[in-house]
Amino acid sequence: MLPLADFIVKNMQVVRTKKEMESIVKSILLKNKTIGFVPTMGYLHSGHLSLLKSAQKNNDISVCSIFVNPTQFNNSEDFKLYPRNETQDFELLETNGCDIVFAPDVDLVNDIDEIKLELQGVDNLMEGKFRPGHFKGVVNIVALLFKIVQPTAAYFGEKDFQQLAIVKMLAKAHFPSIQIVPCSTLRETSGLAMSSRNARLSEEEKQKALAISKALFYIKEEVKNTNTTLELKQKAIDLFFKNGEVELEYLEISDVDSLLPIDKIEQRAVVCIAAFCGKVRLIDNIIINY
Ligand code: AMP
Repeated sequence: MLPLADFIVKNMQVVRTKKEMESIVKSILLKNKTIGFVPTMGYLHSGHLSLLKSAQKNNDISVCSIFVNPTQFNNSEDFKLYPRNETQDFELLETNGCDIVFAPDVDLVNDIDEIKLELQGVDNLMEGKFRPGHFKGVVNIVALLFKIVQPTAAYFGEKDFQQLAIVKMLAKAHFPSIQIVPCSTLRETSGLAMSSRNARLSEEEKQKALAISKALFYIKEEVKNTNTTLELKQKAIDLFFKNGEVELEYLEISDVDSLLPIDKIEQRAVVCIAAFCGKVRLIDNIIINY
């Protein structure tokens, strides 16, 4: 075990291995301190930092992980091109008062123990349907990180709405002591949801990508005039995706809890979109409070 002074330092501590992280966690828990955990894939932006802020506010120690998990990419090109900048990420985390960054080597995947989890079909919809194997990769890596970091609470963005639903199911079944805290989506002033993948968009593509958030805002507004999801979807597609500048992969309107598609909006719903802007695949969603 590391002496306490080794991790309670003014500056952020950078941890590279599972063994070292486990030893630090042990010391923190022996002191009865709470851990707020923010798992990320890096290339951090203000959305990630808002999660860190919540973790800091409600816990003694904040831990942020940076790990681009190869097992959740169904497309090797996408994995290769995923933006990375560790130096910039560490600087951002340190200036924002993060206590510990866990940034292990890709070899961490060798420590994955496949976890059995009944996902009630949620993993076959939307992201699960278009990115086969994605959620299996997510569940396995989040479970491993939870085992290593042993957080009191873990912070996840509503930006990845389906991932959040699946992580809640994972925690309920295997990590009931961990509180899963949903955090709202941060957007650019243009409306574009912040995403690490936006770094791969040209300025022109960023403008075109606004079709996604505009369609979501439109549907949320248009519910007043029609609550039939088929009609809402068709209107949004005609208005925002007909010109082909952004290639829609799916637009679903679903029950906010089960994530199953609904015909009419008569309950709290979530509108989810995945679309390609050039070669970059973006996702976004909006909640409709009925
Ligand atoms: P990622 O690095 O993309 O895997 O995201 C790490 C965490 O940050 C996930 O819980 C995401 O849902 C969350 N996140 C990503 N983008 C945003 C955003 N624009 N606003 C709030 N949270 C976000």
